[in-house]
Amino acid sequence: MKKTEIDYEKVFQLFVGNDDYNEKFKKPFRYNGYYYATDGCSLIFMPIAVKPSLKYSNGILNQKNIIPDDIICYNRVANTIKCTMKVEIKVSELEKKLVPTMINEKIKKSDICPECEGSGTVDYDYKGSTIEGDCPKCKGTGKCDKEVETENMIVNREQKYKMHDVYFRYYLLNRLVEACNLMNVKTIYKTAGTKNTANKFICVDATILLMPTLINSHEKIITIF
Ligand SMILES: [Zn+2]
Repeated sequence: MKKTEIDYEKVFQLFVGNDDYNEKFKKPFRYNGYYYATDGCSLIFMPIAVKPSLKYSNGILNQKNIIPDDIICYNRVANTIKCTMKVEIKVSELEKKLVPTMINEKIKKSDICPECEGSGTVDYDYKGSTIEGDCPKCKGTGKCDKEVETENMIVNREQKYKMHDVYFRYYLLNRLVEACNLMNVKTIYKTAGTKNTANKFICVDATILLMPTLINSHEKIITIF
């Protein structure tokens, strides 16, 4: 039986950024023998030799803009990093315990400007006399966007989970699971990372870094392991 081809394009697409401020990270790229994709909170890299046919162009990883961490030093990225730990994680178990929580969707709705009460103008004091000018809050339109909750329930991307004493947001752990499932990876190893540095997961051919998150004392946390 022919082994099913892994769709690496799909895998790398999970990790690209969609922020307009960082155009160059909207696409995966190649650098120094590896493919990379990152959005600043997560990063994947894999030797080009694993799948030489991916059509990504050359890029440069600016360390300062990405995960600021000693784990990523691009000239010694894959092999020479000191492994201080090796924690085995079963992907199926992680997936099972990563139960999403739901929240009400929030949307922006146009509302009457609270500053000028919809008139679009406010009174200014100018050299002792009062003059009328455009409201600075709504820029003269009389309307402002207001965030309102809808009845629509959506997955809480920001829900925090505790895994081996480190806190991660839902969408990043979910991304890790999705990538492993696409690559048919059943067991991964966490080999580096602390509460405030990128955590490194070896996923057979690819390596995935996830940034942890901080928590407030009153926050509801779901413990995975
Ligand atoms: Zn206004």
